[in-house]
Amino acid sequence: MRHELQLRLLPRDAYNEQSIRAYLEREKGMRTTSVRVLRRSIDARQRTVVVNLTVCAYEDEEPSVEDFTPIVYPDVSEARPVVVVGAGPGGLFAALRLIELGMRPIVVERGKDVHARKKDLARIRIEQKVDAESNYSFGEGGAGAYSDGKLFTRSKKRGNVERILHIFVQHGASQSILSDAHPHIGTDRLPRVIEHIRETILRCGGEVHFETRMTGLIVRGDSVEGIEAERMKDGQCTGVCEFLGPVILATGHSARDVYRWMVNNHVEVEAKGIAVGVRLEHPSELIDRIQYHSREGRGRWLPAAEYSMVTQVDGRGVYSFCMCPGGFVVPAASGPEQIVVNGMSPSNRGGRWSNSGMVVEIRPEDMQNPALMVQGINEEEPLSPPLSVLRFQEALERLCWQQGNRQQTAPSQRMADFVNGRLSESLPASSYAPGLLASPLHFWMPSFVSDRLREAFRLWGRQKHGFLTNEATVIGVETRTSSPLRILRNNETLQHVRLRGLFPCGEGAGYAGGIVSAAIDGERCAESLSLITLPTSWFLTQISRKR
Ligand SMILES: Cc1cc2nc3c(=O)[nH]c(=O)nc-3n(C[C@H](O)[C@H](O)[C@H](O)COP(=O)(O)OP(=O)(O)OC[C@H]3O[C@@H](n4cnc5c(N)ncnc54)[C@H](O)[C@@H]3O)c2cc1C
Repeated sequence: MRHELQLRLLPRDAYNEQSIRAYLEREKGMRTTSVRVLRRSIDARQRTVVVNLTVCAYEDEEPSVEDFTPIVYPDVSEARPVVVVGAGPGGLFAALRLIELGMRPIVVERGKDVHARKKDLARIRIEQKVDAESNYSFGEGGAGAYSDGKLFTRSKKRGNVERILHIFVQHGASQSILSDAHPHIGTDRLPRVIEHIRETILRCGGEVHFETRMTGLIVRGDSVEGIEAERMKDGQCTGVCEFLGPVILATGHSARDVYRWMVNNHVEVEAKGIAVGVRLEHPSELIDRIQYHSREGRGRWLPAAEYSMVTQVDGRGVYSFCMCPGGFVVPAASGPEQIVVNGMSPSNRGGRWSNSGMVVEIRPEDMQNPALMVQGINEEEPLSPPLSVLRFQEALERLCWQQGNRQQTAPSQRMADFVNGRLSESLPASSYAPGLLASPLHFWMPSFVSDRLREAFRLWGRQKHGFLTNEATVIGVETRTSSPLRILRNNETLQHVRLRGLFPCGEGAGYAGGIVSAAIDGERCAESLSLITLPTSWFLTQISRKR
């Protein structure tokens, strides 16, 4: 018999099947054969931390397997090709869904495969050299491959989210992501999962082309017929090629060359708001003590504590973003002369520090505000929409690089010093591998951002005793929170508003923010593409070009 139960357990009883079964026998007299956790969330609002669980308890029977029926991906080697640009979660989940729907994905990715990419990430940390084609944003798995792998999303459609989580599990992620309220895979496990997704695509007859950068769309009239691309080796072009078919464009929020191509070729896009600020890093023990209200911190059973902060200061949202408990701050620049920071954590979240983006909402109309002015905005392009927010982002990243000694050494300040407008004479130890440099961020960051951050830190320091401290470090700058442009598409067909055969997809197109929402958008684009009828002349062009 199967029972669905809501339980409130102490942490020591909540984290393995044996202890949950022992609890059920002890407290409810149930002799179970198996227990499956459907939901798990931590309630740390009171002094005694408890874990809320929804479980399926089985008496005299084993869990049925039909809940987890894996998707069968058919052979599509002879099917109609679709070009998928970008192998981030948007592109990869679009490719898998295309296969399910009987189409053949041709995935084109500027970066390297997920393992080769690791060497380039190490070079950023050790030699402070950023490869513009292979970095934390570019390469197989996209921006999320070397991340915390947090898989929660604000998406309201539970069914869609569960489907994505199941596909991750089918490709090697732990089943715990199906039950945790805040599931995450971890940077040590994600690459293997991504590799398995690639194996599925290739086994079914799809193609994956690494080190191949799209340089433009092939447009005839108002139809997109494919893409032009360059094969790259060590940052050099070794040849040009074309890929023909309708295009799912999932190039992420850091593909600035793609945005500029769009603007220069009069493809309809618009400026979009982003959020910018800093990474804030505390010792993880301190965050555990604050969040679990205990001097002992997380103890033996609880995971590294998370937090989520949000407030309004002077009419703009200020909030924590992409919190990484027990994680690292990473150098996430995607080109030379930039510093961009972000965060990631391993699956056990066992690191000495916990970090989070702390960001202020910026709207396109704020670009003319003198308090947002950043020196060094490239004067050759007009500072007007649609590129205005992108150019602000670029200028701030460049200013940060100049302040950081023109290396990946990140300008930083102790948190209380930042709030009180004092230069830090020394800095605490940090997880940020390229190193930190003491710098007055309160002074050189646009006051539109720094004043709001300081005000929010004061407020959160009052709300959470110990949070505002000089043991924490403010590290500059966090700018890649979302896309600075939106590529305009029809809400129903998901096709570009003018160009037929073009499906702007995922975070870079402005329709997702995070791994799961990008994956959901990838699937939706594949589904919409399967429904459209392209003009007969379009197919004739494809056939003659193929010859
Ligand atoms: C360090 C870090 C940590 C993060 N942590 C999390 C997290 O824990 N949870 C979460 O939900 N989100 C996280 N994010 C954000 C998340 O990674 C993105 O929201 C998500 O990856 C967006 O997916 P996407 O497929 O739309 O774009 P992307 O993942 O950015 O993928 C775009 C791909 O397109 C390729 N590309 C770009 N231009 C071209 C071109 N011209 N030709 C060919 N290929 C091209 C890129 O190389 C890239 O692989 C993190 C991001 C970073 C950088």
